[in-house]
Amino acid sequence: MNAETPVLQVRDLVKHYSVGGGFFGRGRKQLRAVDGVSFSIGQGETLGLVGESGCGKSTVGKAVLRLVEPTSGHVSLEGEEITGLGSAALRGRRKRMQVIFQDPYSSLNPRMTAGEIVQEPLINFDIGSRAEQRDRVAMLFARVGLRPDQRANYPHEFSGGQRQRLGIARALALGPSGIIGYYQGAALDVSVQAQVINLMMDLQQEFGLSYLFVAHDLGVVEHISHRVAVMYLGKIVEIAARAALFETPRHPYTEALLAAVPVSHPRARRARTVLTGDVPSPINPPTGCRFHTRCPIAVARCRQEEPPLVVDASGHGVACHLRAATA
Ligand code: SF4
Repeated sequence: MNAETPVLQVRDLVKHYSVGGGFFGRGRKQLRAVDGVSFSIGQGETLGLVGESGCGKSTVGKAVLRLVEPTSGHVSLEGEEITGLGSAALRGRRKRMQVIFQDPYSSLNPRMTAGEIVQEPLINFDIGSRAEQRDRVAMLFARVGLRPDQRANYPHEFSGGQRQRLGIARALALGPSGIIGYYQGAALDVSVQAQVINLMMDLQQEFGLSYLFVAHDLGVVEHISHRVAVMYLGKIVEIAARAALFETPRHPYTEALLAAVPVSHPRARRARTVLTGDVPSPINPPTGCRFHTRCPIAVARCRQEEPPLVVDASGHGVACHLRAATA
């Protein structure tokens, strides 16, 4: 892999689920969780993926790693296509891209000690002698800020923040080039959240890691991301460098998400774009622009014609008939 090759490249990723229906599958419908998503992440880069619950952002992370099988599309890790790989070849490639789940407690085996949890991937991939594995576990514990004696503890003996650290140590065990992180800040208090996020940023510097950071907390995404992609009903509607997205958002949906974030400075103001209506069902998404049923500036064309994601020379992409830049 040369320095220009993206660590992760996703093209036209689609994940539909068949739902409902009676005998013989009659009347089954397609839930369009992810509907043609494309992005890439360079070495040492963080892409934040945001959107309301049900927008498909979590499914993107799982489909990238083929934890759920994509309906169609292409995913390349360090320049090598992994869609279509058999399970043995895929297992080898997965070493390079690890995942940190949003609920560290449910993703850690309660019957294993913390040391065993971090060592397990090294055993599974038969990497190093047992003594070398234990040395690596000790190094990782120190690096994520856990005490050596905590290797003998079980997950229930850790606080929420410590379990996050444990999940990070496990994800780092195989020396990946990229990590998909699911972030659920509400489970942790604010100072603990900040420590975990800062730890991830330090580790990124130290190990040159790339992150796909999936979250709905825009404040955290702004802090950690180099670029941000905003999803709505299975599609990316805006993607841009962090400053461009937060300071000069173009898509009406991005504006509405940012308007809903509390502004910390008393004199700071944000344009108020208040969303009306509920998020439509991904089983029966609106025709044309999927956002037209809630968009405050929709015009007739929006109901019929789906806007493509147009990316300008600066890399700012917008899917909107009225706000798209000239590519
Ligand atoms: Fe709103 Fe139309 Fe733009 Fe969609 S295409 S975001 S409905 S203005």
